[in-house]
Amino acid sequence: MELRELGGTGLRVSPVGFGASPLGNVFGDIPRDVARATVRRALDLGINFFDTSPYYGGTVSESVLGDCLRFAAVPRDSFVVATKCGRYKEGFDFSEGRVTRSIDESLARLGLKYVDILHCHDIEFTNLDQIVNETIPALLKIKESGKARYIGITGLPLSIFTYVLDRVPPGSVDLILSYCHYGINDTMLVNLLPYLKSKGVGVISASPLAMGLLTDNGPPDWHPAPEELKLACRAAADHCRKKGKRIAKLAMEYSLMNNEISTVLVGMNSPEQVEENVAAALELSSSGIDEELLHEVEAMLEPVKNLTWPSGIQQA
Ligand code: NAD
Repeated sequence: MELRELGGTGLRVSPVGFGASPLGNVFGDIPRDVARATVRRALDLGINFFDTSPYYGGTVSESVLGDCLRFAAVPRDSFVVATKCGRYKEGFDFSEGRVTRSIDESLARLGLKYVDILHCHDIEFTNLDQIVNETIPALLKIKESGKARYIGITGLPLSIFTYVLDRVPPGSVDLILSYCHYGINDTMLVNLLPYLKSKGVGVISASPLAMGLLTDNGPPDWHPAPEELKLACRAAADHCRKKGKRIAKLAMEYSLMNNEISTVLVGMNSPEQVEENVAAALELSSSGIDEELLHEVEAMLEPVKNLTWPSGIQQA
């Protein structure tokens, strides 16, 4: 896979990024040998970007990812790791004290001296002025200490990004991570790309399979999508299967098509899923997307296009 520039960071990342929330068993239990084989396969196939958080599996994802990277015994400068702060199994805490402790805890679990990216995790769950006035300044101190090289913010509603980026000093936030807004059923992120470019902020898009909606197995029980979206995605998946195709592959290819998005984080829990998602990227480069199937699926999802769900607290 050809690497892409990650905004203005100077980092170069694989277009298929490894979402490590499944390593926290959030989509079902993964035995350690399967987790290790999955990460090993990802590295072997050219995936160099790994995303985790203390929240995934209540710290399990970070510990397991750290173990898998150590087991793979690859040089530290050959992979890029992002983790997050502010969201925990116990709840949200974006205070300076908590995020400053958080990075030390994450580094210990990951077994790393630094992370490449430290994100504020799901900032719509606090007053955004706290992110601007307290959390980002705290993360800048962490950056100065060398424990994190770059800073990002993540969340679901797209309005959170403009709110924060319009209020912090230019250059203080390097990246945003948006999820469930650049896939076949929801393309809202595309409207924000010119703004993010003007701010010099790099773009990570997560959940190309809409957290399982665009897979044959369907979403986990906790999936927050409204029922009509779940039903429409199920029908689209069935349609693809009847044609001998897999909706996950189509969805992966679709999300990878926009070069302004540096990397697409997909959650993977087996070497086979890694192979399938990397194959989608390679096939997209060599022969393009299956246009006929895409148009059929887009037509089926049209009634629920850009349908999302509430996330976070009411902002003032
Ligand atoms: P996703 O859309 O990537 O879907 C993951 C699900 O799809 C899992 O059940 C996985 O096993 C399955 N899957 C993966 N490849 C498949 C394939 N080829 N065929 C069939 N099924 C396949 O959703 P996600 O895991 O929630 O998102 C990806 C990653 O992005 C996360 O792991 C996390 O690292 C990151 N993320 C971050 C945030 C945030 O910061 N707020 C939010 C969402 C996701």
